[in-house]
Amino acid sequence: MTAITAIHLDDEEGRISALRRYELLDSAPEAEFDTIIQLIMNIFKVEIAAISLIDTDRQWFKSSQGMLTPGTPRSVAFCDYTIRSAEVFSVEDAMRDPRFRNHEWVTPADGLRCYLGAPLTTPDGYNVGSVCIAGREPRHFSSADRDVLQSFARLVVSQMELRLIAKRDSLTDALSRRGFEDAVTESFIDFQKTETPASVAILDLDHFKAVNDTYGHGIGDSVLRAMVEAAGLVLRRTDVVGRIGGEEFGVLMRGTTVEAALQVAERVRSAVEALRFPELPELRVTASIGVAACTPDDSQPDMWLEAADRALYLAKQGGRNRVVRG
Ligand code: GH3
Ligand code: MG
Ligand code: MG
Repeated sequence: MTAITAIHLDDEEGRISALRRYELLDSAPEAEFDTIIQLIMNIFKVEIAAISLIDTDRQWFKSSQGMLTPGTPRSVAFCDYTIRSAEVFSVEDAMRDPRFRNHEWVTPADGLRCYLGAPLTTPDGYNVGSVCIAGREPRHFSSADRDVLQSFARLVVSQMELRLIAKRDSLTDALSRRGFEDAVTESFIDFQKTETPASVAILDLDHFKAVNDTYGHGIGDSVLRAMVEAAGLVLRRTDVVGRIGGEEFGVLMRGTTVEAALQVAERVRSAVEALRFPELPELRVTASIGVAACTPDDSQPDMWLEAADRALYLAKQGGRNRVVRG
């Protein structure tokens, strides 16, 4: 991991955008983070531990044990103290600490008495949250305790970075298959809850094997990159592109009916057809596209994607370089 050059403690706007980049807030539980919390609890022999992310005005737990809620207002968060410095923050006896003596979590007879938090510092120097432990008895934290918790904080940030990398395709910078499927699943859940329409287009480049065979794999790669860039120019800010496989891509169009999605897909098809490569003036590429909206009949996201896939198959059958509605 890159060395941290400076920690920006006074750049709240930058801190929030660093946090948002990870797309972790309100995400589903993930085993990697839960395992780290279990390990921390076993090592420190505590009943309360969490990975806390500090959003604009709330703290949200990516993983937690012993907490009653998935989050709290930021104003009551001990972890909000932790992110104000580069160091591990400790409260050994909250009753004797004027900052916490009257805190709503401390005043009950079985309230919190001790807390240890290590900031989650991103490689670009923002404290986006903390890893913390807490207990109901006063406790002295040794410098070894602090070092161990700080190491766990680094481990959590590494995991966050890996998760980010896994969501992107390194060749084209589109979402990876996993990232795309996660986004589709989110839209699927939205549709089920709120009937927000959503459509997907699945695009496959036509006769792409011939491009590789004629011009070489390197040119093939450049075509893939150019294709994603060209699609990006005709898509809207809310649309997301993912690389599903080799030369197959998905476009998720949130809040979009199938009629509107067909128009967007047609713009993408036309942009691909219009691609030109100055060094290879004769090179042409086209794409076949299948489009489908999420429907109440889809009981899982896969059924929705399969409908778009069937439409893609028909587009290929129908002569390629066309958009077909599923
Ligand atoms: P169709 O119109 O039926 O889709 O024909 P096609 O040739 O595009 O389909 P086919 O599935 O036969 O071949 C896909 C080709 O895509 C073969 C594979 O080498 C190429 N491909 C897959 N991933 C990459 C990649 O990352 N880079 C390059 N350059 N080529 C890739
Ligand atoms: Mg193809
Ligand atoms: Mg293919």
